[in-house]
Amino acid sequence: RVDAEDAAAAGSNANAAHFVFVPLREQGHLIPAVDTALLLASHGAVCTIVGPPSTAALVRPTVDSAQRSGLQVRLAEFPLDYAASGLPEGADAGDSIPPEHMWSYYRAMALLREPIEIYLRAAHAAPYPTCVVSDFIHPWTTELAANLGVPRLSFFSMCAFGLLCHHNLERFNAWDGVEDPNAPVVVPGLERRFVVTRAQAPGFFRGIPIPCWQEFADYIERARAEADGVIMNTFEEMEPEYVAGYAAARNMKVWTVGPVATYHQTRTTLASTLASRGLRACAVDADECIRWLDGQAPGSVVYVSFGSISRAEPKQVVELGLGLEASGHPFIWVLRNAGDYDEATRAFLGELEARVAGRGLLVRGWAPQLLVLSHDAVGGFVTHCGWNSTLEAVAAGLPVVTWPHFTDQFLNEKLAVEVLGIGVSVGVTEPLTFQAVKKEIVVGREVVEDAVRSVMGAGEEAEERRRRARALAAKARAAAEVGGSSHTNLLDLVKRFQPGAARGAAVSQM
Ligand code: UDP
Repeated sequence: RVDAEDAAAAGSNANAAHFVFVPLREQGHLIPAVDTALLLASHGAVCTIVGPPSTAALVRPTVDSAQRSGLQVRLAEFPLDYAASGLPEGADAGDSIPPEHMWSYYRAMALLREPIEIYLRAAHAAPYPTCVVSDFIHPWTTELAANLGVPRLSFFSMCAFGLLCHHNLERFNAWDGVEDPNAPVVVPGLERRFVVTRAQAPGFFRGIPIPCWQEFADYIERARAEADGVIMNTFEEMEPEYVAGYAAARNMKVWTVGPVATYHQTRTTLASTLASRGLRACAVDADECIRWLDGQAPGSVVYVSFGSISRAEPKQVVELGLGLEASGHPFIWVLRNAGDYDEATRAFLGELEARVAGRGLLVRGWAPQLLVLSHDAVGGFVTHCGWNSTLEAVAAGLPVVTWPHFTDQFLNEKLAVEVLGIGVSVGVTEPLTFQAVKKEIVVGREVVEDAVRSVMGAGEEAEERRRRARALAAKARAAAEVGGSSHTNLLDLVKRFQPGAARGAAVSQM
């Protein structure tokens, strides 16, 4: 299916850079990829976002709204071949891809290469693409870009610090001979000393004892090494040595363009528009949320969310709820899977809600996170350290309670706590989600209470943490403003990938 606007716009952009975005469907990848496309389009580029109908459905409201404001952003959707990929029909229709279908989903995505290529060569998709920007988890886009004869940039909504740690751990074979997944190892090749375990940083798709995943991990690594450059949702001033370090380690240009969520914040103050950036219907009315926040003292509210994938187990829900209640601070607590809980847990939540009426707001489903974080009443964020959430906290000038669940979140925690000095950890040291062997790890109510009190409370240490967070937010704003590093990088991308720009120059080192 091709958007009607595509044909209308074709031909009028002969000299524009045309970026083809191939995002991953998971919200933590999709939201920042779409935001990046919107930012590039707002600087004059044409952007086509390609994907299956289930992805397009999530993106469509945002793309429609960008088109209405005059941006050249298109959405092209391609049906998945369920039969050929082995993906059960409709397995991609839910909130996220179930882990047991992940492999066939990636296979189904790879099968889209040919139809996407045919579409992009057609006249109605003009101007001809000048660059493919693909999520690093779509290694098949190497071939897509090669067949189209254009460069390919890897897109990461991750911090350079985490990427460099992963890269060095792999490059220096840090896990060779380390049997115990919880044995501490110093990340090699960095000036500062950071200690991690294999359980915390096994490498992307590494450590899954199934041959197809090991091959996939190698395929991804090859594709990352062969990319013509990298676009990262971070900003240089926050982690200059790691941005430079990653560019040097990969010997490729890195364009830092973050925080990309500023696309929405600089364009609208309308609650409903900001809320819809979450690409989902919110479980709470955005205006009602604002009214509730308006009634709280500045900096008093703690926002609690574990992102779009992680879910707290019932025992953890009880401990977290009681810890928040005992902290005495007003809170907004997002429970993504509230509907799945047993009766006892639902009853606990109902009773808690009654006890904290007026000072505790439970959101059962999707929350307008960006909107909440940018409200003056919010003073701290209990986060699972997903990179987007971490960066959104940074951009909002908020200190964080760090509670990593899986993948890069442990390294993001290190950045927040050890590098930036804006975080207090609840002390989780092993993955809570996607464990090879299911373990029950529950953070106790006292730990939650203490961590919330130290981030939200008075005292010199807390004040110092807040000062650092505010200073970082000012740097984030400056990076996104005209003349700032991220703004300049966006302009550079749009210029370098114009038709006819020298390809060699486009991908040479900084
Ligand atoms: N998000 C949101 N509302 C929610 C949960 C998540 O708007 O209720 C957004 C959040 O602002 C962030 C993204 O979804 O942009 C989650 O990405 P992140 O990297 O933080 O975590 P992930 O979901 O990938 O674990």
